[in-house]
Amino acid sequence: MKQTAPLFDRVALIGIGLIGSSLARAIAKHGLAGHIFISTRSADTLATAQALNLGDCYTQDPAKAVQDADLVVVCTPMGAYEAVAKAMASALKPGAIVSDVGSVKASAIKDILPHLPSGVHLVPGHPIAGTEHSGPKAGYADLFPGHWCILTPPPKTNAEAVDKVRTLWQMCGANVEIMTPNHHDRVLAITSHLPHLIAYTIVDTAAQLEDDTQNEVIKFSAAGFRDFTRIAASDPVMWRDVFLSNKSAVLDILGRFRDDLDRMTNAIEQGDGDLLEDAFTRTRAIRRGIIDLKQHIPDVKPD
Ligand code: NAP
Repeated sequence: MKQTAPLFDRVALIGIGLIGSSLARAIAKHGLAGHIFISTRSADTLATAQALNLGDCYTQDPAKAVQDADLVVVCTPMGAYEAVAKAMASALKPGAIVSDVGSVKASAIKDILPHLPSGVHLVPGHPIAGTEHSGPKAGYADLFPGHWCILTPPPKTNAEAVDKVRTLWQMCGANVEIMTPNHHDRVLAITSHLPHLIAYTIVDTAAQLEDDTQNEVIKFSAAGFRDFTRIAASDPVMWRDVFLSNKSAVLDILGRFRDDLDRMTNAIEQGDGDLLEDAFTRTRAIRRGIIDLKQHIPDVKPD
């Protein structure tokens, strides 16, 4: 869908990796901004973004990027949020909208909101779309269609600002849902954060096996292990920050998972096939529900 007049005159993207560069490409593809300003930490990544022609202006200084921006989207790992918010705050114009794409929402608000001048609207967002790849070359314009983007505006956020961010994501092809940050963090702890932790742990366990067994694991990886290795290849810094930012929801869900794993362990020990079969039957129904909602196709960009 291409807009006739851009939704925003000036958009600044702070961080231009997988998600930031996908958003830049989608914004350009659908004509959603008059100008795209790009800022990132390293000169190398900035040069790559420029070579890929992802925007109109490039700077390592977030304050320069956000000057006169109507919309700023923070697309860095979450551990950088507070420093980015502090660095750009004084350069934001009144009426500007600040958003983000981070995977944890309560901590995004905690790290950004206190630094924003009054008259600037915070509309946090999280596109539930991604791959295990990172950096500006990994992004693509069609990452978002068919996926959800969850917005978690704090109470009393300017309704027009929320609508504009909603429209941005809808024009990029995403379905938008609004929820509270705590609810978002709890849902994502089970649907995304725990699965990543399990994948990281399984692959790390395999990595520590003795050499001959490890070779066999790689050789016969199609038997289930391979899917875990794809998830466990996700960006280490981004995922470090996700677990540190969503500590209480992840610990809560991890406690439940441990209890369930203990139950499975006991069932295997006791030869309780009924318990195993009942659990595996329930999980099949979850998979069928995901397929019915067409949420089963992974985002896997070719290498
Ligand atoms: P990425 O590909 O690793 O890109 C991160 C970008 O942020 C790079 O441009 C990097 O710049 C920049 N950056 C890193 N540290 C910075 C700092 N201290 N100050 C300023 N810029 C910094 O990461 P990503 O996958 O796009 O993830 C970005 C955000 O999207 C994260 O908050 C993540 O939670 C969220 N998210 C990710 C996914 C996913 O599947 N990957 C899905 C949904 C949401 P340099 O290269 O210049 O250091």
